[in-house]
Amino acid sequence: MYADVILPLPFSDLYTYSVPVEMRDKITRGSRVIVPFGNRKYYTAIVYKIQETAPKGFKVKEIHSLSDSEPIVNEQQLKLWEWISYYYLSPLGDVYKTALPSSLKSEDLKSKFKPKTETFIRINPGKDAANITGIIGRAVKQKFLYNQIQDILTDNKKEHISRKEVSELAGYSVSVLNGLIKKEVLQTIEVETGRLNTGIKPIRKPHPLNDFQQKAFNEIIDCFENRQTCLLHGVTSSGKTEIYIHLIEEALSLGKQTLYLVPEIALTTQLTQRLQAVYGSKIGIYHSKINDNERAEIWNKMLSDEPYEIILGVRSSLFLPYQQLGLVIIDEEHEMSYKQQEPSPRYHARDTAIMLAHFYNAKTILGSATPSLESYFNTRNGKYGIVTLQERYRNILMPEIKIENTFELRKRKKMKSLLTPALIEQMKLILENGEQVILFRNRRGFASLIECEQCAWSPKCKRCDVTLTYHKKRNRLICHYCNASYPMPVICPSCNSENLKTLGQGTEQLEEEVERLFPDYIVGRMDLDTTRGKDAYEKIIDDFQSKRIHILIGTQMLSKGLDFENVGIVGIISSDSLLNYPDFRSHERGFQLMMQAAGRAGRKNRQGKVIIQSADPDQPVYGYISKYDYEGFFNSQMAERRMFNYPPFCRLISIILKHKTEQKVDAGSDYLAALLRQSFSDSVQGPSKPIVSFIQRYHLREILLKLDYNLSIKKTREIIKSAETRFHTNKDFKYIMIHFDVDKV
Ligand code: ADP
Ligand code: ZN
Ligand code: ZN
Repeated sequence: MYADVILPLPFSDLYTYSVPVEMRDKITRGSRVIVPFGNRKYYTAIVYKIQETAPKGFKVKEIHSLSDSEPIVNEQQLKLWEWISYYYLSPLGDVYKTALPSSLKSEDLKSKFKPKTETFIRINPGKDAANITGIIGRAVKQKFLYNQIQDILTDNKKEHISRKEVSELAGYSVSVLNGLIKKEVLQTIEVETGRLNTGIKPIRKPHPLNDFQQKAFNEIIDCFENRQTCLLHGVTSSGKTEIYIHLIEEALSLGKQTLYLVPEIALTTQLTQRLQAVYGSKIGIYHSKINDNERAEIWNKMLSDEPYEIILGVRSSLFLPYQQLGLVIIDEEHEMSYKQQEPSPRYHARDTAIMLAHFYNAKTILGSATPSLESYFNTRNGKYGIVTLQERYRNILMPEIKIENTFELRKRKKMKSLLTPALIEQMKLILENGEQVILFRNRRGFASLIECEQCAWSPKCKRCDVTLTYHKKRNRLICHYCNASYPMPVICPSCNSENLKTLGQGTEQLEEEVERLFPDYIVGRMDLDTTRGKDAYEKIIDDFQSKRIHILIGTQMLSKGLDFENVGIVGIISSDSLLNYPDFRSHERGFQLMMQAAGRAGRKNRQGKVIIQSADPDQPVYGYISKYDYEGFFNSQMAERRMFNYPPFCRLISIILKHKTEQKVDAGSDYLAALLRQSFSDSVQGPSKPIVSFIQRYHLREILLKLDYNLSIKKTREIIKSAETRFHTNKDFKYIMIHFDVDKV
C-alpha cells in the first residue's frame, strides 16, 4: 500500500511513501502523517491518495508515523485545495501551508499544546469579613481597591476575579494590590482556562426586519431557489448585517453552519459584539491576531461533535474543516484586500469562498454598498442573482457630499492648513454639538517624502527602489515595502545642505495639525502603526464609540463597514491620491473608498455631511460620487474596461520574474514572453518594469497575460506550466524565480 502525500514544500505537488502494515486500516485520504524527507528531515504531511501500485523507477521511503486516529482534513477541503492550486497556479504544498495552523503542521503536537492558565484574585476565605477592615487599617488606597473588588464579586455572584480585570480598576496599582496580598486579605489562584470563549450567553433575539429589509430577505430566499449566489446591493446603513443574521437563522434551523467572511480584522471587532449578542458561544472567531494555539483549538473544535455553528473571520477562515456548511456570507465583497498578495497561493477569498460553497452545496450571499465591477457584471449576465436595498434603516438620509476645490483655494491663498476653511468651520459646529468627526488620509506616517531643498535629493531604501516615509514619533525613515528603518539624516548626504523639507502629508501629520486646530478635543488615529497589538483595534474603536475620542483620523482601514452612531461629518483629505495611482482599478477603488467613507456619516437622528478635498474636482468620478450614482459609475467604467480590454472582459494573469542581477532578469523575461507568445500571441504584454521594480535586492519584471474568457482554464494552465518548465530547463534561467498572480487586483 502506498500513499501520495502533500508536503509543505513549494516544488512539486505530491510525494509517494509506502504505508507500514500496522497503519493500513487507519490511514485514509486527509490523514496527517509524519514522513522523512531529504537527509534526516521530517515533515508533517497530509495524505492525498492511497493506492496499491508501487511507483516505478525509484525506491520509496516509509511513512514514519500517523498523527491522529481520524483524518484532520475532509473531502471538501481537499477539493478546495486542489482547485486553488489549479486555478491560481500554485503548488499544493503552498496551499497546505496556508490552510493549516502552524502548530498542526509541526511534528510534535503534544508539546506545542500547553493548557492555558490565568491568575485570579479572591478574598481570603480564611479571614473573617469583619476583621478585614481592621487588617487594612488606615491604608486608604488599599481600602478603596478592596471595596471595589468586593463590590464586583458580590454584584456578579463570583468567587474570584481575574488579575487582568483588577488591573483595569480605578484604584489599582501594583503596590496597592501586593499590599493587600501581603496582608493576606486577598489571595492569588491559578485557574485553567480554555483558550476558546465558552459559556457566552446570547442576550437577545435577532431584531425584527423592517418592511424593506423583509422584502429584500424574501427576495434572497427566492433567489436561492434557483441560484447558488446572490448579490445584496444595499446602501450603507440599510441593515445588511441584520439581513445576514436572519439568513443565519435560516441556516441554523436547517442544522447548517455559516461562514461569515469580512475583509479586515478591524471589522471583526464590532461584528463579534453584534453576533455574540445573538449567538453567544455558537460563534467562533478566526483571524491572524488569534494566536496559533487558539487556531489549532478552533480547528479541532470544528472537527469535533460540537463544532462552531458560525465562523466569523478573514480569508484564512475559508480553510477550516466545516462539516455542514450551508451559508457563506461575504461582507463588503468589493474589498480588494480579499485578494492574497504574498505569499503564494495568491487566491481571491471571495471567488474561493464561492467555490467552497459549491463543494458543500451551500448558498453564498455577497454584500456591498459599492459592489465590485466583476460581481455586478455577474448579476447582469445572470450568473448571480441580485437584490437591492436603497433605504437606510429608519429612513435616515444619505449624507450630503460636497467637493471642495483645493487647487482654487490654494491659488486664492485660502488654504492655511491641510483642511479647507469650510471643513474646519463645519467641524467646529459639529463638535460643539457633541457629535464626532472622522478624517481620512490614505497614507500613514508623518510625511510621504523628505526632499533636499537645494539639490532635490530624497532618501531611498537600499534594498528596494522606493522613497522612504518619515515617521515622526519614531523619528525614523521607514520603507513601506520591506519595513526597513533608517535614521533621519540631519544634513543632505548629497550636497550637505541642512534644508531638508517634508512633502506630502500622512496620517501622523494630519493628527498633529488637527490637535493644533482643535486643542479642546481628543484626537485618535487608526492606521497600521497604531494597531499592531492584539487588542489595538478594539481599543480605538471602543474609545470612539464611547466618545472618549472626538476626532478620529485614519487610513482606509477606517472606511470599511464600521458602524458609528454619532458621526456628524466625514472629511476626505487629498482624495486625488486615491485616483492617480497608475492602475486600471484606481477609479473603482477610489469610488468605493469615498462612498464607503461617506457612509460612516450621519447614521442616527440626522443627515450627516461629507467634505471631499480635491485639487482636481472635474474628474467624472466625483460627479458620480456626489450623486450616489453607482449605475452611472458602473456603466462608464465598463465602457473603459471594454475598450482597453481589462477585466471583467478578460482574465488577467500577472507573471513576475525575480533575480538579483538585472541583465539576467531582463534576458529571462524576454525569453519567457517569447515562449508564451507562441501560444497566446497578442494576449501577452511586456515584459515591463513594475511600478516598483527593485524590492529587497531583487530586480523584478512583469509579463501580463490578458486572456480571452473563452479559453479554458485547463488549456491556459497547460500552456503556462509547459512554458515554465521549458524556461527553467534552460540553464541560464534556472535560478530566476517566477511567480503567478491570477486575477491580479
Ligand atoms: P449595513 O450593514 O447595511 O451598513 P447595519 O446592519 O450595520 O447596516 O445597520 C445600521 C444600523 O441600523 C445598525 O446600528 C443596526 O443595528 C441598525 N438596524 C438596522 N436594521 C435594524 C432592524 N431591523 N432593527 C434594529 N436595528 C436595526
Ligand atoms: Zn525596502
Ligand atoms: Zn542636497
